[in-house]
Amino acid sequence: MAVKVNNRKAGDDQFDRAAELIGLKDNIRDSLKMPDRELMVEVPLRKDDGTLQSFRGYRVQHNNSRGPFKGGIRYHHEVDLDEVRSLASLMTWKTALVDIPYGGGKGGITVNPHELSERELERLSRRFFRAIDPIIGVNKDIPAPDVNTNAQIMAWFADEYGQLHGHTPGIVTGKPINLGGSLGREAATGKGTAIITRETAKRYDIDLEGASVVIQGFGNVGSYTGKFLSEMGCKIIAVSDVHGGLHEPDGFDVPSLFKYNYDNRTVKDCGQGKTLSNEELLGLECDFLIPAALGGVIHKMNADQLKCKIVIEAANGPITPPASEILYDKKIHVVPDILTNAGGVTVSYFEWVQNLQQFQWDEDEVNEKLEKRMVRAFNEVSSFCDEKKTSLRLAAFGVAIDRVAHSFELRGI
Ligand code: NAD
Repeated sequence: MAVKVNNRKAGDDQFDRAAELIGLKDNIRDSLKMPDRELMVEVPLRKDDGTLQSFRGYRVQHNNSRGPFKGGIRYHHEVDLDEVRSLASLMTWKTALVDIPYGGGKGGITVNPHELSERELERLSRRFFRAIDPIIGVNKDIPAPDVNTNAQIMAWFADEYGQLHGHTPGIVTGKPINLGGSLGREAATGKGTAIITRETAKRYDIDLEGASVVIQGFGNVGSYTGKFLSEMGCKIIAVSDVHGGLHEPDGFDVPSLFKYNYDNRTVKDCGQGKTLSNEELLGLECDFLIPAALGGVIHKMNADQLKCKIVIEAANGPITPPASEILYDKKIHVVPDILTNAGGVTVSYFEWVQNLQQFQWDEDEVNEKLEKRMVRAFNEVSSFCDEKKTSLRLAAFGVAIDRVAHSFELRGI
């Protein structure tokens, strides 16, 4: 069960605590909290049966002190302005933390895409992109996929933009490879998560060889994280998806689990492990618990049951603020989402650079550059954490906010 979080309050509290830590001036605080621009649009859709339906769409541009706004577009029936606003600000801190020249933005449509046909989804996506066209641009705001949007939808966006302005592949990232997508993008968030887990193991003196790992959510991020951690020597002892979990105390045969999941889009009936619920999975004893599905899954009603040494937040916002405090008291370390899952936006940045250069890098080059940025960001957060004697979460926000504030001041108003 996931808990709906008051995003604005949670984000503001976190921002204020980190701002306090770095001694940020009050007037800059107010400015950095407030989004630069919020666009709300009506998106009409002619359904296949000829009827007309209207949807609400959003694009929030939080801050562009360090470069063009960057962030995904989410299709979900619970999308609202509060959620998009808070995800937009998280993107500002995430891009700053891995030091890529972007600001933060986010968009979405309040829609259940599973209720639409493929053609309806295409018409809705094209119409939405036209509606936000006045504020996007390859040097202004570069969208990307998020929950329930994918490479195909990015292809429609790029095509729609191209019809209005001429061929501009860099207008969105997360595209199919043969339309200018980057090699290594599909695995990037999981690869980044595995790199951060490896660096965390070093920091807390945990031997990665044989370290036990539990992964909630075996989708894009969770499955690649499991694959790379297993290649690094970890033992993946439990995994789950929306249909429930599986427990294999001696460790899964990960290559065959990964292939089964890739082909079937679920781990259910893969022929390994004993079934358990998603809630039971969170309470397993392990070195690393990696929530890689939804926000709000670790909350004040279940935080006390966790028996892991470290939580690696691969999903966005999987721990509610009250649960964070419970884990802190239990001395369970938490590696925050803005650091852990930043591999995705980092390779999106590489995709944009390749599009601007009209040149494609090979996969080794992409991975080598990703590795460098993730390790550098981890070390910066780690040093800040030790220097200020604070949590990794506040350290990550501290480093990021300080970087954005510095650019903001240099640019002037
Ligand atoms: P995905 O749709 O590929 O996978 C989600 C997985 O979670 C699936 O296995 C799904 O079955 C499972 N799931 C859904 N509901 C669940 C539930 N109630 N309990 C347990 N499992 C459940 O999505 P993804 O791209 O892997 O994204 C996962 C998380 O990572 C999201 O929070 C997303 O915002 C975040 N994230 C993703 C990326 C990226 O590049 N894909 C980048 C940054 C952050």
